[in-house]
Amino acid sequence: MERTYIMLKPDCVERGLIGEVISRIERKGYQITAMKMMHLDEPILREHYSHLVNEDFFPLLVDFMMSGPVVAMIVEGEDCIAGMRRLMGPTNNANAAPGTIRGDLACSNRLNIIHGSDSPETAEAEIKRFFG
Ligand code: UDP
Ligand code: MG
Repeated sequence: MERTYIMLKPDCVERGLIGEVISRIERKGYQITAMKMMHLDEPILREHYSHLVNEDFFPLLVDFMMSGPVVAMIVEGEDCIAGMRRLMGPTNNANAAPGTIRGDLACSNRLNIIHGSDSPETAEAEIKRFFG
């Protein structure tokens, strides 16, 4: 069994899509073993998106991620780190196929509904960051 960190972003919450996305995760057979709604601040976002701090779009990303609450989750299942990334689809909605969460629901490459850890190391670091 593997576990991953999943976060429903402010656009997902604002558009009333929490249930839609959670049901896709559950239908896939993964288990949500922890979940909470929270507001993020700039320090935690600088840490979470440390690989992007020097990008032009970083200030816009921070504004977006602080624009409303997020839903933080721990998701468990066999091969769920890569499996959740497949379910999500690629970062940019323009490249995300129909049937994926981002392909069906995302509006842009920033407002893209969902975050999912990209490796076992980041999954553990992100679970620690958001769940302690
Ligand atoms: N992002 C953005 N503009 C870009 C690329 C990414 O605003 O040109 C945002 C987008 O919300 C993305 C997040 O930054 O989900 C983190 O980027 P990453 O490359 O880690 O993509 P992810 O792992 O979320 O697919
Ligand atoms: Mg990423």
